[in-house]
Parts: sequence; C-alpha cells; structure tokens
Amino acid sequence: MDICVPEKVAYIIKKLEQEGHEAYIVGGCVRDALLKREPEDWDITTSASPFQVKKIFRRTIDTGIQHGTVTVMLEKDGFEVTTYRIDGAYEDGRHPSSVQFTSNLKEDLKRRDFTINAMAYNPKTGIVDLFGGQDDLKAGIIRCVGNAAERFTEDALRILRAIRFASQLGFQIEEQTQQGIRTLASNLSKVSQERIQVEMTKLLVSPHPEQLRIAYELGVTAVILPELDAIMPLKQNNPYHCYTVGNHTIAMVEQIRATKVLRWTALLHDIGKLQTHKIDENGQDHFYGHAEKSAVQAKQILRRFKFDNDTIDKVSRLILYHAYHLRRDKKIIRRCMNKIGVDLFEDLLEVMRADTMAKSNYQQQEWLEDIIEIKKLYEEIVADHECITLKQLDVNGQDLIQIGILPGKQMGELLNKMLDYVLEHPEANRKEVLLDKFCS
Ligand code: ATP
Ligand code: MG
Repeated sequence: MDICVPEKVAYIIKKLEQEGHEAYIVGGCVRDALLKREPEDWDITTSASPFQVKKIFRRTIDTGIQHGTVTVMLEKDGFEVTTYRIDGAYEDGRHPSSVQFTSNLKEDLKRRDFTINAMAYNPKTGIVDLFGGQDDLKAGIIRCVGNAAERFTEDALRILRAIRFASQLGFQIEEQTQQGIRTLASNLSKVSQERIQVEMTKLLVSPHPEQLRIAYELGVTAVILPELDAIMPLKQNNPYHCYTVGNHTIAMVEQIRATKVLRWTALLHDIGKLQTHKIDENGQDHFYGHAEKSAVQAKQILRRFKFDNDTIDKVSRLILYHAYHLRRDKKIIRRCMNKIGVDLFEDLLEVMRADTMAKSNYQQQEWLEDIIEIKKLYEEIVADHECITLKQLDVNGQDLIQIGILPGKQMGELLNKMLDYVLEHPEANRKEVLLDKFCS
C-alpha cells in the first residue's frame, strides 16, 4: 500500500538516500496514514548519524541531539529526523538514559511500543512491517512489540499509552498486553506526573473515553487516580440516579464536549461524593455538599498532576457550581453568572446538560428543557449588557471619593452592596439612582 508523503518529507528522504543513507517515515505518521487519518507530525528515521544529517541540510536545530534527533528546517516547517537507535533503560518515561545508534532499521523498530506504532515507510521500499502492525490495525488491536511484561518494565508510561491509543482509535488491547498492564500497573508510580497528565488528557478528549473503565479494571487508576476507584462502586439509591457514582461519571465524560477543561470537569465533578455520603431513614442515599468537597479534592488532584493554574481554576470553579440551583429566572441566572464568572457560564450549562444526560430519566426531560431556556435568558442578559460584575457597575471608586468616601474596606463593601442590589434590579444600574439609594 502506498502512502502519500508530503513533498518536503519526500525531499528529506530523497536527499538522505542520495548521500548513501537509508531514510523512512516512521511511527505515528505511518499508523495514521494507513488509517486515513491526518498525521500530526511526520517523523523520519535514518541510518545517518546526527552529525551526517546536520551536514546534509542547511538549516537544522539540535532538538534532542543526545538521543539522535535533529530538526530539519525547510522554510517555516520543521521535521524531526532521528538516527536508528537502540534504547537503554528509560528513566523519565520518554527518553532512555542512554542510547546506542545502529545502522539496522529492525533494531529501531523493535524498541517502539506497539505493533501499530512500529512500522516504517518510504516510497522506494514501501511499508516495513516486521511485527504485524498492519494486521493489528485492521483487527483494531493494541499489542506490544515483543514481550509485554518486559516492555512495560522498561517504561511504565507505555501502560497508559496502550489505553490512550485504545481510546483514540476505538481498539481492543490484546490479552498478553492486558496481562502485562495488570501485572505492572504499580510501576506507574515511578512515572512523572506531567507525562501521566498528558496521556490522561489525550485519553479523556478521545472519541472513546469510556476506556477509562479498562484503566480501572486493569488496576491503572488504582495507582494514578485512586480517588476514582473509591467512587466506582458507590451506589446512589435515589430517584435521580440509575448508575453508581463511577458509572455516572464515565457516562457524563462521554456526554460532554471533548475539551480538556470540560472532560476533566466531568471526570472529577463527583469525586467528593464518598466523603459526603449519608443514608436517610428510607434507605435513600444523599450527598449534601458534594460539589464543594469535589471542588476541593479536584484541585488537589489537578495540582498533583501538575496542571497549569488556569486549568485548575476553571475545572474547580465548574465543579463547585455544577449543582447550582438554576431556574428560568434572570435574577438567579445573573447571580450564578456573578459567582462562577461570566467566562464560564456557558460551559457550566454544558456541564449541567451532560450531568443530566448521565442520570435516570426522573425529571430529566424537564431539566434539559430548563437548561435550553436558561441559555436563552442568559443570552438576553448578555445582549442587554446587564450588570454582572463590579466593572459593569455604573458607580466606581472615583465616584465615591468625590462624595467623600475614602478608599478601603468600607468602599469595597459599599460597591458590593450596590452590585448585589443591581443583580436583582438591573434597571437600577444608574449612577444617580445608586448614589441616591446607598449614599444619602
Ligand atoms: P501521537 O503523536 O498521535 O500522540 P505517536 O504514535 O506519534 O502518537 P509519539 O509520542 O509522538 O506518539 O511518539 C512517536 C513514536 O515514537 C511512536 O509512534 C512510537 O513508535 C515511539 N514511542 C513514543 N513513545 C514511546 C515509548 N514510551 N516507548 C516506546 N516507543 C515510543
Ligand atoms: Mg507523534
């Protein structure tokens, strides 16, 4: 089968060959091209040493020269060209601590993680597939190259990569590979949180995030996200729910739009339910205050995964307000917009919709219709420029100074009182009205 290689990539391969070296596209781009998916980047592998690569091309960058990787620049585009290599032990889950260059393509393909990621191609030779990668692509199987247990022992991040590729491609993980994951999942505790974060996010925003369940069943979440294991079997005996907290969570992740913030919000939105669980005299389960507890716990978890502050802030705010008692009432909507922040209100409605979709059908339809109406009312509020924040208040600190109020705590309190009033009475957002009402 032929792969349509971009012009610049073909040029790099041809140039290396003209100088007497071998060169192929390799790894993810071969896999994606065979699946008719647009590859994210085109990686090239070559028998030429980094030194030789740098001599052949005019503009290069030493991206990872100690691991054999040089970026070749053609106009504005960069292409990673890596010398065939044999890896020593992996210590950081990405780069082996030592590498040995080789002139043998087979050795380079052997070090790669899965059969579907271990194929090479060039226009002259066609596909080089030494481990049955094409068959596994057709059958939809994730299988380690060689002995799964050995491969996961070398680099435990591969455990998470296996599940991530299964989620992205909708593939099954082959039996031996599953067995290796089960046996070696605890090694994930040695992998850096940053790398786990990257793989978990790719898994979550993939078309099959329900593969989280496989991660749970194979003992992976027990190591990297034990908080999820704690809620997986938690029953919710009340009219609103038809699933355990864990199954509700996974159903919600599937329902919500695939962005990093929304999917992580769904994953963690009920993470604090275990701590708030109460059973009433009728045997019904309650979780009062679970949104607050979940927001706090989510923050801790996201910090542990080394997320950036912006993501932590957004996800925890969405979780804190995910159970807010919204109604078809502009006063309530304005207050909620003020609390969560106008920037997140539309996302909050998406969170509420997905949460509802993942519950029992008790009052489900009514609530889904409410959410649609609330969205319309929200849009009117925005279109009418109704005041939601201090910035929009028709009175500012300067106005108060002019009438003799000194900057400080008292001024802040007064402005907030005015805002509070305006949230209920948008028509009162006029300087003379507010000064008259609050300052005379
Ligand atoms: P994508 O970029 O879409 O996430 P990819 O397959 O290109 O998928 P990369 O992380 O970019 O994944 O790695 C490129 C290639 O390097 C892989 O296809 C695989 O052959 C190899 N590889 C990457 N990480 C590992 C690893 N931890 N162990 C073994 N081989 C790996
Ligand atoms: Mg890649």
